[in-house]
Amino acid sequence: MESTFVTTAPNNGSVVFLGIGGNLGDRIANLQSAVKLIGERIGDIEKISSVYLSEPWGFKHAKYFTNIVAKVRTSLSADETLSTALQIEAELKRTRSGNGYEGRTMDIDILFFNDEIIHTERLKVPHPLICQRLFVLLPMAELEPNFVHPQNGKTMHELTEICTDNGKIKKIIHL
Ligand code: ADP
Ligand code: MG
Repeated sequence: MESTFVTTAPNNGSVVFLGIGGNLGDRIANLQSAVKLIGERIGDIEKISSVYLSEPWGFKHAKYFTNIVAKVRTSLSADETLSTALQIEAELKRTRSGNGYEGRTMDIDILFFNDEIIHTERLKVPHPLICQRLFVLLPMAELEPNFVHPQNGKTMHELTEICTDNGKIKKIIHL
Protein backbone atom coordinates (compact mmCIF):
# COMPACT_ATOMS: atom_id res chain seq x y z
CA MET A 1 0.00 0.00 0.00
CA GLU A 2 1.26 3.40 -0.84
CA SER A 3 1.85 5.55 2.14
CA THR A 4 0.10 8.86 2.28
CA PHE A 5 2.03 11.89 3.29
CA VAL A 6 0.29 14.87 4.67
CA THR A 7 2.40 17.78 3.66
CA THR A 8 1.98 21.15 5.15
CA ALA A 9 1.92 23.85 2.54
CA PRO A 10 5.00 26.01 3.00
CA ASN A 11 4.11 29.20 4.74
CA ASN A 12 5.47 31.95 2.60
CA GLY A 13 4.71 34.57 5.17
CA SER A 14 3.74 38.12 4.34
CA VAL A 15 5.19 40.74 2.07
CA VAL A 16 5.88 44.03 3.74
CA PHE A 17 7.23 47.18 2.09
CA LEU A 18 9.21 49.33 4.48
CA GLY A 19 10.09 52.99 3.92
CA ILE A 20 13.46 53.68 5.52
CA GLY A 21 15.08 57.09 5.82
CA GLY A 22 16.90 59.66 7.88
CA ASN A 23 18.67 62.98 7.65
CA LEU A 24 21.16 63.09 10.50
CA GLY A 25 24.51 61.47 11.13
CA ASP A 26 26.12 59.22 8.54
CA ARG A 27 22.97 58.71 6.51
CA ILE A 28 24.27 55.93 4.25
CA ALA A 29 25.80 54.00 7.15
CA ASN A 30 22.50 54.34 9.02
CA LEU A 31 20.58 52.94 6.05
CA GLN A 32 23.01 50.04 5.85
CA SER A 33 22.64 49.31 9.57
CA ALA A 34 18.85 49.47 9.31
CA VAL A 35 18.82 47.08 6.36
CA LYS A 36 21.08 44.64 8.21
CA LEU A 37 18.91 44.68 11.35
CA ILE A 38 15.69 44.39 9.31
CA GLY A 39 17.13 41.32 7.57
CA GLU A 40 18.03 39.77 10.91
CA ARG A 41 14.84 40.59 12.81
CA ILE A 42 11.97 41.12 10.37
CA GLY A 43 12.72 38.80 7.47
CA ASP A 44 14.43 38.17 4.17
CA ILE A 45 15.00 41.25 2.08
CA GLU A 46 13.79 40.42 -1.40
CA LYS A 47 14.43 43.76 -3.06
CA ILE A 48 15.92 47.06 -2.14
CA SER A 49 15.55 50.32 -4.05
CA SER A 50 18.20 52.84 -4.96
CA VAL A 51 18.91 55.58 -2.44
CA TYR A 52 16.96 58.80 -3.05
CA LEU A 53 18.27 62.10 -1.74
CA SER A 54 15.24 64.19 -0.88
CA GLU A 55 14.40 67.60 0.44
CA PRO A 56 12.83 67.45 3.92
CA TRP A 57 9.08 66.91 3.48
CA GLY A 58 6.72 69.04 5.54
CA PHE A 59 9.41 70.97 7.40
CA LYS A 60 12.60 72.94 6.84
CA HIS A 61 15.96 71.43 7.72
CA ALA A 62 19.44 72.04 6.37
CA LYS A 63 20.13 68.35 5.84
CA TYR A 64 18.40 66.42 3.08
CA PHE A 65 17.07 62.92 3.74
CA THR A 66 18.25 59.69 2.20
CA ASN A 67 15.37 57.29 1.59
CA ILE A 68 14.98 53.74 0.38
CA VAL A 69 12.19 51.19 0.19
CA ALA A 70 12.76 47.52 1.02
CA LYS A 71 10.53 44.60 0.11
CA VAL A 72 10.73 42.10 2.95
CA ARG A 73 9.21 38.66 3.44
CA THR A 74 8.24 38.18 7.07
CA SER A 75 6.59 35.65 9.30
CA LEU A 76 5.78 38.42 11.79
CA SER A 77 2.36 40.01 12.08
CA ALA A 78 1.97 43.66 11.06
CA ASP A 79 1.93 44.64 14.71
CA GLU A 80 5.08 42.67 15.48
CA THR A 81 6.73 44.20 12.40
CA LEU A 82 5.94 47.68 13.73
CA SER A 83 7.32 46.88 17.19
CA THR A 84 10.50 45.49 15.68
CA ALA A 85 10.88 48.49 13.35
CA LEU A 86 10.42 50.92 16.26
CA GLN A 87 13.02 49.03 18.26
CA ILE A 88 15.51 49.21 15.38
CA GLU A 89 14.79 52.95 15.02
CA ALA A 90 15.45 53.45 18.71
CA GLU A 91 18.75 51.60 18.50
CA LEU A 92 19.89 53.63 15.51
CA LYS A 93 18.76 56.92 17.01
CA ARG A 94 21.13 56.63 19.93
CA THR A 95 23.54 59.49 19.99
CA ARG A 96 26.41 60.25 22.28
CA SER A 97 26.08 64.02 22.21
CA GLY A 98 25.70 64.12 25.98
CA ASN A 99 23.27 67.05 25.96
CA GLY A 100 20.16 64.91 25.84
CA TYR A 101 19.24 65.90 22.29
CA GLU A 102 18.58 63.08 19.87
CA GLY A 103 18.32 63.72 16.15
CA ARG A 104 16.08 61.89 13.73
CA THR A 105 18.63 59.51 12.34
CA MET A 106 16.22 56.80 11.36
CA ASP A 107 12.55 56.47 10.51
CA ILE A 108 11.10 53.12 9.46
CA ASP A 109 7.51 53.13 8.23
CA ILE A 110 5.31 50.24 7.17
CA LEU A 111 4.07 51.30 3.75
CA PHE A 112 2.14 48.17 2.79
CA PHE A 113 1.54 44.84 4.50
CA ASN A 114 0.31 42.40 1.83
CA ASP A 115 -2.81 44.14 0.54
CA GLU A 116 -4.21 44.57 4.02
CA ILE A 117 -5.96 47.62 5.34
CA ILE A 118 -5.22 48.11 9.02
CA HIS A 119 -6.58 50.90 11.21
CA THR A 120 -5.61 50.53 14.82
CA GLU A 121 -4.53 53.21 17.22
CA ARG A 122 -0.82 52.51 16.68
CA LEU A 123 -0.85 51.33 13.09
CA LYS A 124 -2.33 52.62 9.85
CA VAL A 125 -1.61 50.54 6.76
CA PRO A 126 -1.23 51.44 3.95
CA HIS A 127 0.73 54.34 5.40
CA PRO A 128 -1.67 57.32 5.02
CA LEU A 129 0.83 59.68 3.30
CA ILE A 130 2.19 57.41 0.56
CA CYS A 131 0.41 59.20 -2.28
CA GLN A 132 1.66 62.63 -1.20
CA ARG A 133 5.32 61.65 -0.92
CA LEU A 134 7.58 61.20 -3.92
CA PHE A 135 10.36 59.92 -1.66
CA VAL A 136 8.11 56.89 -1.08
CA LEU A 137 6.49 56.60 -4.50
CA LEU A 138 9.67 56.78 -6.59
CA PRO A 139 11.48 53.94 -4.78
CA MET A 140 8.21 51.93 -4.61
CA ALA A 141 7.70 52.37 -8.35
CA GLU A 142 11.32 51.42 -8.98
CA LEU A 143 10.76 48.10 -7.16
CA GLU A 144 7.16 47.35 -8.18
CA PRO A 145 5.69 49.73 -10.78
CA ASN A 146 2.58 47.56 -11.15
CA PHE A 147 1.87 47.11 -7.46
CA VAL A 148 -1.69 48.33 -6.83
CA HIS A 149 -2.52 50.53 -3.86
CA PRO A 150 -5.27 48.54 -2.10
CA GLN A 151 -7.30 51.64 -1.24
CA ASN A 152 -7.34 53.66 -4.44
CA GLY A 153 -6.68 50.95 -7.03
CA LYS A 154 -3.85 52.88 -8.70
CA THR A 155 -0.45 51.42 -9.52
CA MET A 156 2.73 52.84 -8.06
CA HIS A 157 3.68 54.08 -11.51
CA GLU A 158 0.36 55.88 -11.91
CA LEU A 159 0.68 57.41 -8.45
CA THR A 160 4.12 58.85 -9.26
CA GLU A 161 2.63 60.54 -12.33
CA ILE A 162 -0.21 62.24 -10.46
CA CYS A 163 1.65 63.06 -7.25
CA THR A 164 1.79 66.82 -6.62
CA ASP A 165 4.84 66.67 -4.32
CA ASN A 166 7.27 69.27 -5.71
CA GLY A 167 10.11 68.67 -3.26
CA LYS A 168 13.55 68.18 -4.78
CA ILE A 169 14.51 64.54 -5.09
CA LYS A 170 17.10 62.51 -6.99
CA LYS A 171 18.33 58.97 -7.16
CA ILE A 172 21.95 58.89 -6.02
CA ILE A 173 23.37 55.42 -5.45
CA HIS A 174 22.50 51.83 -4.69
CA LEU A 175 23.48 50.52 -1.28
P1 ADP B 1 6.34 59.69 11.40
O1 ADP B 1 6.91 58.46 10.77
O2 ADP B 1 4.87 59.85 11.13
O3 ADP B 1 7.11 60.93 11.06
P2 ADP B 1 7.13 58.47 13.93
O4 ADP B 1 8.16 57.70 13.18
O5 ADP B 1 7.55 59.15 15.18
O6 ADP B 1 6.43 59.56 12.99
O7 ADP B 1 5.94 57.45 14.23
C1 ADP B 1 5.00 57.70 15.19
C2 ADP B 1 4.01 56.53 15.31
O8 ADP B 1 3.34 56.30 14.08
C3 ADP B 1 4.57 55.17 15.62
O9 ADP B 1 4.84 55.00 16.97
C4 ADP B 1 3.45 54.23 15.15
O10 ADP B 1 2.67 53.77 16.24
C5 ADP B 1 2.62 55.12 14.27
N1 ADP B 1 2.28 54.52 12.98
C6 ADP B 1 1.03 54.45 12.45
N2 ADP B 1 1.02 53.85 11.27
C7 ADP B 1 2.32 53.53 11.00
C8 ADP B 1 2.94 52.88 9.89
N3 ADP B 1 2.25 52.45 8.82
N4 ADP B 1 4.29 52.70 9.95
C9 ADP B 1 5.00 53.15 11.02
N5 ADP B 1 4.46 53.77 12.09
C10 ADP B 1 3.13 53.96 12.08
MG1 MG C 1 7.77 56.64 11.36
